[in-house]
Amino acid sequence: MALGSSVAGPQPIPAAPTDPDQAAEIRWPLGMPAELAGQLPPVPAGSGVIIRGLDHRVLGANAQAVRLLHLTWDELLASSADDPRWKPLDEQGLPIALDHRPSAVTMRTGHGVDDSLLGVTLRSPGDAPDRLIWLSVSTGLTTGGSGAPLATVTVFADVTETPRGRSATDRVLASYRDLGDNVTDFVLRTTTLGTIEWASPSVTAATGWPLAAVIQHVSTEFQHPDDTATARELMDRLLAGDRAQGRYRVLCADGSYRWFVVSSGPIIAGDGRVTGGVHGFTSIDALVDAELTAEAERGILRESERQYRLLAENASDVVLMIGIDDRIAWVSPSAVELLGWSPDALVGQSSLYLIHPDNVTDVLQTRDAFSDGMLQLAPFQVQRKTGEHRWISASIREVRDPDGDLIGRVVSLRDVHEETLARQALEASETMFRAVLTSSSTGMILCDLTGRIQVVNKALCRMLHRDEAGLLGRSTDDLVHPADRAALAQARATTIAADGSASTIELRLIRADGVIIWARRSSSLIRNAAAAPDRLVVQLEDVTTEHEAREELRVQAFNDRLTGMHNRAWILNALELDLDQAQRSGGTVGVLFIDLDNFKLVNDSLGHAAGDEVLAEIAERMMGAMRPQDRVGRFGGDEFVVVVPDGHDPAEVERVAERIATALGTELTIEGHRIMPTVSIGIALSTPESTAASLLRDTDSALFRAKKSGRARWQFFDATMHSQAMTRLTIEDEIRTSLLAGDFVVHYQPIVALADRSVVGYEALVRWKHPHRGLLAPAEFLAVAEESGLVVGIGRAVLDQVCAVLAAHPDAAGTISVNVSAVELAHEEWAERFLATVHRHGVDPSRLVVEVTETAVLSLRSHTVGSVTALRDRGVGLHVDDFGTGFSSISVLRDLPVTGLKLDASFVAGLGSAPGEDAPVDGHGDGLAAGLAGLVAHLGLTGVAEGIETDAQAETLRRQGWQHGQGYLFGRPAPWPV
Ligand code: C2E
Repeated sequence: MALGSSVAGPQPIPAAPTDPDQAAEIRWPLGMPAELAGQLPPVPAGSGVIIRGLDHRVLGANAQAVRLLHLTWDELLASSADDPRWKPLDEQGLPIALDHRPSAVTMRTGHGVDDSLLGVTLRSPGDAPDRLIWLSVSTGLTTGGSGAPLATVTVFADVTETPRGRSATDRVLASYRDLGDNVTDFVLRTTTLGTIEWASPSVTAATGWPLAAVIQHVSTEFQHPDDTATARELMDRLLAGDRAQGRYRVLCADGSYRWFVVSSGPIIAGDGRVTGGVHGFTSIDALVDAELTAEAERGILRESERQYRLLAENASDVVLMIGIDDRIAWVSPSAVELLGWSPDALVGQSSLYLIHPDNVTDVLQTRDAFSDGMLQLAPFQVQRKTGEHRWISASIREVRDPDGDLIGRVVSLRDVHEETLARQALEASETMFRAVLTSSSTGMILCDLTGRIQVVNKALCRMLHRDEAGLLGRSTDDLVHPADRAALAQARATTIAADGSASTIELRLIRADGVIIWARRSSSLIRNAAAAPDRLVVQLEDVTTEHEAREELRVQAFNDRLTGMHNRAWILNALELDLDQAQRSGGTVGVLFIDLDNFKLVNDSLGHAAGDEVLAEIAERMMGAMRPQDRVGRFGGDEFVVVVPDGHDPAEVERVAERIATALGTELTIEGHRIMPTVSIGIALSTPESTAASLLRDTDSALFRAKKSGRARWQFFDATMHSQAMTRLTIEDEIRTSLLAGDFVVHYQPIVALADRSVVGYEALVRWKHPHRGLLAPAEFLAVAEESGLVVGIGRAVLDQVCAVLAAHPDAAGTISVNVSAVELAHEEWAERFLATVHRHGVDPSRLVVEVTETAVLSLRSHTVGSVTALRDRGVGLHVDDFGTGFSSISVLRDLPVTGLKLDASFVAGLGSAPGEDAPVDGHGDGLAAGLAGLVAHLGLTGVAEGIETDAQAETLRRQGWQHGQGYLFGRPAPWPV
């Protein structure tokens, strides 16, 4: 086609069509502009022609144009020059920019374009693919008469099937083969130096750059610095005429880089020279991101795998990898230490290989029940190579492939044997503890170290009249009497500090109803698994009754129930305190030891109840006589002690004694009997050396003296009394020793018939063969022996010796009399033992006579009366000794089974002598002896006169009617045989 080719300046209108039919074929929808008449070039046959105005509107076209472009008339007429449907390509197959299209070039430059090859994509009807045709296009400019441009005339013919068209088709196909129709985001055409000559408009969508910012720029401006090598390599291959593909990052307008796959093809000129390249860019950002992430993950994974393996190989835990076949795939070396097995021995074994049969089910159930990530198994037992089982904890991590399918498990085993055993022991003890707690009848609390209650049992609820909910969470302090809270805190601290040892205190608890109860609290410490103090177990036992009893006992311990006075213990304590005080202050303490005169008589004759009444009355009077500072207490029996703390003035102390004597000295009536009570008082004043014991001993000595001096008086202690007291104590000790040593012996004094002086019997009289002081008479020791009760032992020794004599001398004349003191008679078992001794020796009881003094007979109580009667029933004689010196109660002779009576020696002494010489004290000895002789005869008793030293006495007594006599006249006491 040679239409208007290469015209310079305004070109003449192409020649008018030679075929007038063809020319006539041009249609002018708006009518042919008159100026164009005769200006139109001729149109070769088969070519299309389109005439556009300067405004690019189609002014006219022929039918061939409609056919060639697969348009309707209307479509063609409505089309614009830049209609995107044209997608015009140049002969390299590259899109032609709008202003590079032939008509635009002609319009812009005024020059015609001749025979330009233009690829146009035509729409195919139906689903058939669009078709690329190649047009040979020539354009020219028509001018009016003034030479002004009027319109462009484009003449074009289909050359697709010509060699030129086919060649272009091949080139396009080659260029775009790898790019594909839909994978390329944008396309660039560059020179061999990389200058971008053309860019597809889609570059803006892909990179954000407007075309103007891309065209004529060098491609390296848009490449990531790190990817220069890749881009360079692509270009090198391009220059070598090869197609190449690579990927690199492209700078986008927002400053970011996007990854693209770049497929490059060379542009080869007709002479075979590479003149540039065509580059298709396809975004692979998402892919690269995914790749990078995957790579990063792979890197992390590789690193963590490396670390895990490192850990697994070096950790004390045993790590196993279990395959999907549930067999051990790998074992860390630490298996040797933990299990005794080498990894090699375990690999390939079932994962359950070492698990104790008892635990297999649990392990499997737990393992299979979980499905996400990590699982910690409860401890189970595995068997070591040695056969021993150990408790192990296991954590299992599932391993899954990218599709989420399970491909194995990583198991970490840790030896928790000791902890598990400890925990099991703890659990067992906790279980036991709870059982004990629940069932215990003692109140129990489990609390924290501050006393906050966590658990209580029913017994405690009952004890406090509170329910469990009302106790939980409260502090134990709330339950305790305010006065005892400090003690509670102290006890708690002690338990915690004393390493758990129990600490016991008594404290008051407040019941819900406000009643205070006493409880014995003991607590012990519970430690946690780390051995740190954790909680306290508190036991609370209601000891209210016990406490009250103890309180009562305490009161009783210091008080005398009968009189309401303080007792011996209290007064001793008070005395000690006062002495301490006096010794510190240099003061003096006065002590009065008070004994009721003849109280024994009252007690024995009127009975204990009467005796108690007397004591209570006396005590009341005595307390009424006390000054506030004085202390008084009942010491025992009829003895009272008064302590005068400020006793430095003896006169003042004496006034206390006087007040007491005065207060007591009024008559009192007991059971109809009028009694005039008197007291004897021993007084001692403390010295700096005094002790309570020494001071009381001194008062006792003084009392002894007061009694001896005739009672109803007080006596201050002096040094002589002290030595006497000491003597008494010494004698007491010596008697004890001598009793064991058998130092008490019996002497026998004959009793004769006064008529013919024949021996009718003997009186047994005890003697003490003292280890240092020789043979001692009863007067030397008998009082002490009676006072101390030791006379009982002496009496037994005497009876034993007497019975032995009688047994040894069955033919000895008459009876042997033994003396029995009131102290012995008072002894409950005396009669029984007496008879036992007699029987042991095989002696006839009737060969024995018991001598008791008048006073002793008076003190006989009912049971001793019975004893004496029993003796008498067995034949033992009973004589009342020293008759006439005591109360001489005739009723005694009537009421008791008395067999004889001994006239006291004092009545005998003056008999048979001249008046005024050795006369009896009362002056009536003669008359009394004679009178008593008549009484004895009247009662049918045996009468024995004692102390007969002269024949005259013997004769007088015989004449008075006395049958028997005893005295030095007839024989002194002497050892058997007399
Ligand atoms: P008693 O039963 O009145 O005994 C008579 C005391 O008079 C005896 O003194 C005796 O040696 C003494 N005696 C006898 N004939 C004469 C005499 O002609 N002239 C004088 N001046 N004295 C004479 P003895 O042995 O010292 O005993 C004193 C008292 O000790 C006894 O008085 C008796 O009450 C008591 N006694 C003696 N032996 C025992 C004993 O074994 N048990 C008990 N409980 N008391 C005993």
